[in-house]
This record gives sequence, structure tokens and C-alpha cells, in this order.
Amino acid sequence: MKVLSKLKSERGLWMADAPVPEVGPNDLLIRIRKTAICGTDIHIYSWDEWAKKTIPVPMHVGHEYVGTVAGMGSEVRGFKIGDRVSGEGHITCGHCRNCRAGRRHLCRNTVGVGVNREGAFAEYLVIPAFNAFPIPDDISDDLAAIFDPFGNAVHTALSFNLVGEDVLITGAGPIGIMAVAIARHVGARHVVITDVNDYRLDLARKMGATRAVNVAREDLRAVMAELGMTEGFDVGLEMSGNPQAFRQMLDTMNHGGKVALLGIPPADTSIDWNHVIFKGLEIKGIYGREMFETWYKMVALLQSGLDISPIITHHFPVDRFEEGFEAMLSGQSGKVILDWAD
Ligand code: NAD
Ligand code: ZN
Repeated sequence: MKVLSKLKSERGLWMADAPVPEVGPNDLLIRIRKTAICGTDIHIYSWDEWAKKTIPVPMHVGHEYVGTVAGMGSEVRGFKIGDRVSGEGHITCGHCRNCRAGRRHLCRNTVGVGVNREGAFAEYLVIPAFNAFPIPDDISDDLAAIFDPFGNAVHTALSFNLVGEDVLITGAGPIGIMAVAIARHVGARHVVITDVNDYRLDLARKMGATRAVNVAREDLRAVMAELGMTEGFDVGLEMSGNPQAFRQMLDTMNHGGKVALLGIPPADTSIDWNHVIFKGLEIKGIYGREMFETWYKMVALLQSGLDISPIITHHFPVDRFEEGFEAMLSGQSGKVILDWAD
């Protein structure tokens, strides 16, 4: 089968041939229809320090996808051939304390599809049936293909009650922009997003941001004053991984504010802990998606009218994958979809 593989320890990905993976008794075989490119895939493509120490070579990568069930192991129940599915990319152990308590997103032995084991940039993918998520007929292939990052946005945004609250989102990457739409949909008052990239800030405006602020040019505190915000943000969603953005968030939070951290900062990032302590901030780290409560909420949010479709800005047939990666690398894109099959 055709795969997009990290064949060599250098920049790039290569179209290659690989055997169709074997299906174990508890597995599903999925025929991939569409995949999306994640920031993680960009790290792997660019072959940065993280990728060098994490990704085995050769291996085909990718973990954002939609496909149809093409085969299943003898123990699998609840799926049939042809079912449309996406899948949770974190494969959990099932036997640690958190797994056994139903808190699978906190499994200490998580293995990542397309990171620690073969991925979805392939004609066929095998995952445990437990990880597969059925897609209702009224949700398009394009949207189903981005359930993984949409789930990051939903998990983060729904960590705290947003109804009637003023929300700051730092980082207008695809996940931050989707979080804008979610916060708006569930009833936040002001949804302010920051970035240094005008293309992405424009997209965030289209998705419902009260104000999309380029912090390289604009003063966030002046924006808050214009909006009549005299005290500070009630909820912060950090989605940039940028230390300056995180510091600005801590500085502009109201006392008693709640902060969810999704963005991954450099290891030695320092902050002013006085904000955390004297404002009594509550800080929560977010990893992945809750299994499968976040997936349930994604479907429910879309079925209750949430529109995230503008976040998909580019489509390419998979043979033109390099153009897709270039679009992502340019910063002038939202999500980029690669089509594998009709
Ligand atoms: P992205 O890299 O596309 O977006 C980050 C954005 O932050 C960029 O648009 C960048 O211009 C912006 N930025 C840079 N400096 C800034 C500043 N000073 N103020 C505000 N914004 C600034 O990333 P993404 O794919 O949208 O993901 C968001 C973050 O979440 C990344 O850090 C990613 O690594 C992380 N992530 C974490 C998980 C998890 O499970 N915790 C999962 C997926 C992604
Ligand atoms: Zn576990």
C-alpha cells in the first residue's frame, strides 16, 4: 500500500510502499479516505530535535484522519464493514490506575499513532477497535478528518465554565481558532485571541472572536479597556506554547481566574509565580482528548450548530503532499487536508 513515510533522518517525507498492517483480534483495519496535517507532522517533516529523538526511521506517520472499516479482528463487536470512523490517536494501556478508573486520557503508558507507532498517512491503518470513533452521517469527511485537533480545542475550552465569561485565547493556530468558535458557541461574553500572524487572526475574526489582537503591534490592555473590561480575563486558554504569550495571559487574568494549558512551552520557561499565587489562579494542563467524552461533545457541538468549517483552508490530493506541507509551513493556512480516496 501507498504510505507517506519518514524514510531518512533528514528534512522531508517520502511516498513509499509498505505492507498492509496485520489485524489483531481486537483491531480494526481502516481504509483511509482523508488525512489532515498536524503541527506534530510539521515537526517530523522539518526533522527538529524533538522529532530526531522521538520518531523511529523508517516509519509512516500521521494521526488525523477519517476512513471506513475494511476489516476487523475476531473479538471486535459494535462495528461493521463500511462504517465511517475517525480514531483516538492515544493508545492507552488499559491496566494502569487511571485507565482502570475510566480516565484513559491520563494513562501513563500512552502510545501515539503516527508518533510511536505506524500512522494514518497510508491507504490502510490498524488501531485497536476501542480507539475507533463512529462518525454520524451528518458530519462531513472533512470535519471528521480533523476530530483529533478539534478534540484538543474542545477538551481545553470545556475545561472551565465559559458562560458569560471573558475568555483570552493565546495563539491563533488551528486549535486556538477552533477554540474561539467553541467559546462563542457555548456562551462566552468577550472572546479575545492573540497572535503575531495576521492571516490567522483574520480567520479567528471570521470564527467569532470579539477581538483578534496582533500583540506585535497592539496593546492587549488597551483592547481590554476598549471592551470595558476593568478587572481581567476570567478564563485563559493557552494555545501557542510561546512563553511571552503565557506570561501575558497570567498578567491579564482576573483574580480567581482559571487557565488551561494546551500549548507546549520550551522546557525552561519561567513565569512570574506571584500572579498564580496572589491572584489565586487555577491552572490545568491538557493532554489530548478525554476518551470518549470529548468525542461525544464534538459531535454534539457540531449537531447543535457549531460551524468550524472555515478552519479548513487547503485541500490537496495526497500525491501533492509537499504543497500541503509548504502551505502549513508558510503560516498562511488553517487546516490542510490530503485526500487519499474518493
Ligand atoms: P500552531 O503552532 O499552529 O499555533 C501556535 C500559534 O501561536 C501560531 O499561530 C503562532 O504565531 C502563535 N504565537 C507565537 N507567538 C505568540 C505570542 N507571543 N502571542 C500569541 N500567539 C503567539 O499550533 P496548533 O497546532 O494550533 O497547536 C497549539 C499548541 O498546542 C502548540 O503549542 C502545540 O504544540 C500544542 N498541542 C498540544 C497538545 C496537547 O495534547 N497538549 C495537542 C496538540 C497541540
Ligand atoms: Zn493506562
